[in-house]
Amino acid sequence: MTLTKPARVRFAPSPTGRLHLGGARTALYDYLIARQSGGQFVLRIEDTDRKRFLPGAEQEFMDALHWLGLQWDEGPDIGGPYGPYRQSERKEIYLQYAQQLVESGHAYPCFCTPERLEKLRSEQQARKQQPRYDGHCRNIPPEEAAARVAAGEPHVIRFKMPRDGSVTCHDLIRGDITYRNDQLDDSILVKSDGWALYHLAAMVDDHLMKITHVLRGAEWLPTFPLHVHVYRAFGWEQPEWVHLSLFLKPSGKGKMSKRDAAELMKDGRSVYITDLRGLGYIPEAVNNWAALMGWSYDDHTEFFTLADLVEKFDIRRLNPSPAAINFSKLDHFNGLHIRHLDQEDLLRRVKPFFEQAGYHPDDATLRKMMPILQPRLKTLDDAPVVAGFFFREEVEPDPQRLVPKKVTPPQALEAAKRLYEVLSALPEVTLESGEQPVRALAEEMGLKAGALFGILREAVTGQAVSPPIFETMEIIGKETVLKRLQHAIEILETMQN
Ligand code: GLU
Repeated sequence: MTLTKPARVRFAPSPTGRLHLGGARTALYDYLIARQSGGQFVLRIEDTDRKRFLPGAEQEFMDALHWLGLQWDEGPDIGGPYGPYRQSERKEIYLQYAQQLVESGHAYPCFCTPERLEKLRSEQQARKQQPRYDGHCRNIPPEEAAARVAAGEPHVIRFKMPRDGSVTCHDLIRGDITYRNDQLDDSILVKSDGWALYHLAAMVDDHLMKITHVLRGAEWLPTFPLHVHVYRAFGWEQPEWVHLSLFLKPSGKGKMSKRDAAELMKDGRSVYITDLRGLGYIPEAVNNWAALMGWSYDDHTEFFTLADLVEKFDIRRLNPSPAAINFSKLDHFNGLHIRHLDQEDLLRRVKPFFEQAGYHPDDATLRKMMPILQPRLKTLDDAPVVAGFFFREEVEPDPQRLVPKKVTPPQALEAAKRLYEVLSALPEVTLESGEQPVRALAEEMGLKAGALFGILREAVTGQAVSPPIFETMEIIGKETVLKRLQHAIEILETMQN
């Protein structure tokens, strides 16, 4: 069942890093919900952590989302009716709401020094207790606290967590989760520098921006009760909460860390979206892959375009269980989606990969290559590896491979010369004109057809593996084929003693 009532959803990255798979999946689900319900997808930048702020990160997030095709309807770059959409531009709003909580008795200023808090923490650790605030400033009379604040005494604002009872939090895919209040902390809402933390800022914004569904990672489950308490303290209606499944390392053992992510890159894999782009994955495949990490349509359909997903995605079918990241699946989807592309589109996308590899591809040749390249590519990055020889002035065949197994160097030389004769006698080298004579030649020389094709392939492409050799030669053209064969003959001649 898809959503019918217009939903307002937001993707709210902190500009402290780059868009990774987890974030991309959240953004994708947000986008799908907004589009299928006729609602809005909001991009909000949560940049109140000024110490971890990374210049350029906001742009990188936007570029990555654009590449994925997940266009937002409201955001810092395009504005919208509920802006500003950058939390650093909303500082005063949070302070007002913090003040409201203090006045209603749901929050209080805390004047404890960092030294006192540090001492408290180490004592608690020594007693093997969970570190949390001991409530030292909880009961300072409000007038006294207000006077100390007015006098400029450094302080934070903490939430006044009820000491007894429990809170039941409802998650759309996990159901009710009950937490005991005495296990919860008087968390900080506003730091001493006046910047609100997520626990306040995100709640205020979700409310003011009329967000109907909050999709976020399962790492927020421990502070979920705090967020529900904050909503209640304000007397606001809660959104639907959806805590998405965690991603595990490809091995399935544990959560991905930053270090794991860096390690992956050594194997040409990455969880960062802009890396995946550079590695030759296409956004259609990344979306398809990400969508199915935590959601399924049925037990067999796996190919989805973004439009299919908008139509078929069902928030109720999200799976809350952690899932290991499976890169072979990504390769698989990439191949599928590459084969699904229009050939002109593929040409446009693959061309930069040839250029980056140092080739100067021309569109006419690329266009001829697409039919034989398209079924063979796993990533766009494979293209110059598989087919760079099309754009090389000369290829350098491997002398060892010019002499296939069970063939002697004199036989290989003879074969290359005869191939030259046979092909030069043809008006053009094509599959139709060339295959038969080459097979006949193999027979005549008592060679396996595979061995003869192997010599030809090595001579023309300089590779042991290539797209089908006759189609390849047809594109390269007779003249270049003969020139390359001649070069192979010269190499074989030097190998005769
Ligand atoms: N800024 C938070 C983060 O980057 C957003 C979490 C949320 O979506 O609520 O993790």
